[in-house]
Amino acid sequence: MQYELIGYRDWTEALKWGFLAEHVTAVRWEATPHPAYTELLKLVGEKGHFVLTTNVEGMFAKSGFTEERIYTPQGSYARYQCLQPCTTDTWPLKPVVDRIRPSIDASTQEITDPELVPLCPHGGGPVFMNVRGGNWFIDAPYREQEDRFYAWLEKTTAGALVIVEIGSGFNTPGVIRWPMEAITRQHQSARLIRVNVDHPEVPAALSTRAISIRGRAIEWVRALRRPAGCPSHTGARDE
Ligand SMILES: [Zn+2]
Repeated sequence: MQYELIGYRDWTEALKWGFLAEHVTAVRWEATPHPAYTELLKLVGEKGHFVLTTNVEGMFAKSGFTEERIYTPQGSYARYQCLQPCTTDTWPLKPVVDRIRPSIDASTQEITDPELVPLCPHGGGPVFMNVRGGNWFIDAPYREQEDRFYAWLEKTTAGALVIVEIGSGFNTPGVIRWPMEAITRQHQSARLIRVNVDHPEVPAALSTRAISIRGRAIEWVRALRRPAGCPSHTGARDE
């Protein structure tokens, strides 16, 4: 429910940031990662790997994945930016929310001290988390990750590549779902394992190079770690 309020526009900056400060603190800094992340880390083990995720709350890094092997094209809750934007600079958000939180009215969730409402340090305009929420998004902080990801992917063409895609549906399919299908098509020794509760279908053109699993990440990541006696997958290929 909190996530749905993110796109809400009809509120004052004091109310917006009172809410966002609590929301971001809860999901980015206070939340503990779902056990599926740890299972995934064990599955990866010492193998060469890279994480591509639309998640912006940093749970992969918190679970022990190496920062240098994570690409977050949708941005990060750990930074904020100008909404205009009048500069391509972005800034760490934690010090800002830590300053705001003691001044939030518990009943209205509004910032009581107007001085604490965050503004663009450059032009003084409204600010937001540095996430892909519109064409104002500044992707500069993630370009280095992107370069590392594609350099790594390029190297995998010499050997086998297993893509484990989890929970990528049709909300933003252009970020993970479609590119992973394209990589599997182009890369002859690539295999795609698609795990999804609602949309596990894989294109028929990928034939035996893709596996469709309808289910929750944790059960299947655990199953993938077991060399034998895995529960059988649905085999559903709807296309
Ligand atoms: Zn600005």
